[in-house]
Amino acid sequence: MLPWKAIMLLAHRIRLEASPAQRDYFARAAGTARRVWNWALAEWQRQAAAGIKPNAMALKKQFNRIKYADPTWLDEQGQPWLRSIHRDAHAQPFANLARAWNRYFEQRRAGAPAHPPVFKKKGRCRDAFYLANDKFRLDGCAAVLPKVGRVALCETLRWPGKILGASVSREAGHWFLCVQVDVPDETARLPRSRDGITGVDLGVSAAATLSNGEKIAARRPLTGALRRLRIRGQRLSRKLEAAKAAAGIAGRIPKGTSLPVSENRTKGAQALARLQARIARVRRDFTHKLTTRLCRENQAVAIEDLNVSGMLANARLARAIADVGFYEIRRQLLYKAARYGTNIVLAERWYPSSKLCSNCGAKHASLGLGERSWTCAACGAHHDRDINAAINLQRLATGALAAETALPVASPAATPGTAAGPGLAGGGKVTPVKYEHGQQDGSGQEENAAHFCARFC
Ligand SMILES: [Zn+2]
Repeated sequence: MLPWKAIMLLAHRIRLEASPAQRDYFARAAGTARRVWNWALAEWQRQAAAGIKPNAMALKKQFNRIKYADPTWLDEQGQPWLRSIHRDAHAQPFANLARAWNRYFEQRRAGAPAHPPVFKKKGRCRDAFYLANDKFRLDGCAAVLPKVGRVALCETLRWPGKILGASVSREAGHWFLCVQVDVPDETARLPRSRDGITGVDLGVSAAATLSNGEKIAARRPLTGALRRLRIRGQRLSRKLEAAKAAAGIAGRIPKGTSLPVSENRTKGAQALARLQARIARVRRDFTHKLTTRLCRENQAVAIEDLNVSGMLANARLARAIADVGFYEIRRQLLYKAARYGTNIVLAERWYPSSKLCSNCGAKHASLGLGERSWTCAACGAHHDRDINAAINLQRLATGALAAETALPVASPAATPGTAAGPGLAGGGKVTPVKYEHGQQDGSGQEENAAHFCARFC
């Protein structure tokens, strides 16, 4: 086995064409998963407070002892309703909870902002439940799921490979089957159409500016839908206020009370959810097309390692930034790069890509956020802010590739058109390389700023 033989996990999310009875089952199964999660989390917190070290496996065993007997888990006839729901839906929340706590402790150890797992609220949380790979099968354009039988799929599974598991989840009234597949290398790898080297400046006025001067405008679905969002939000809120008035509630709805179900309020909530789902779809479509294109056409792509959460803290920019979906662009670039054998070069956060003159390398003293263009004091070149930054990033990518080719191993640059090299290695290596420009002030710190990572996803 080659040392860089790695597992490529891909997930395909397919819409289900479910019958009303099947949809009803999905909703009940997702509700079960939610309720078991809440039970497990409450028990975890109780044990931790009592000084016992909680353990997900032990919790699951504890739950298995009570789930068909405890009065809170029986229906009005005293029958255990949990029997009508497939086991995976109420076994998986324990594994999920263990993962959530592990992530929380890891983040806390790393000093990163961390949030412990929270209770899931009906109508507020994502409705989903899990299916293990031996409990369902795909049969062309249909899935055979436990307890519900055949459900039509909107498309067939895109990749051959070993199916590892699936989840069924709801988005705005539609149910989706998300199948996780371990895809063999030869399927996972895709040929590149070109071997360019591109620097990409992500921004708000143009979502991406390429070093060849091309500006790709963002599809900003939220900005376009704001008015309709407000209208639908107001409609829903009026119905909610009316229902609260009818129930004699002023202010916040007290914990544990639920308003009577109203057909019109449900319809209003669904209309709002449909619009939000559409916004998410448009955004997803844009980022996927952009990142696929960048990886397909380039052997190296350099982007800034943007501090997205820091930028979101800027209230005036937050909506525009979140609307472009920077973090998602970066995530998709990293995993698609592995498929196309593209090198992704992340410039360090303090690399001054906008302030360096791409013509002579002088560093511009200060550059306000609003300044879209500037003139270099040293050489007199006039720069478009974004294009200049993209060209500087391209230089970084070129430097990274040069460093790669200097290594004795076959590099992606040496085998054009193929996804060669340790593309799927997953090892991730850090290649410190000096950049040729912008060391004028000689502070010593600038030199360190030239370090960056050539990472493989
Ligand atoms: Zn200059």
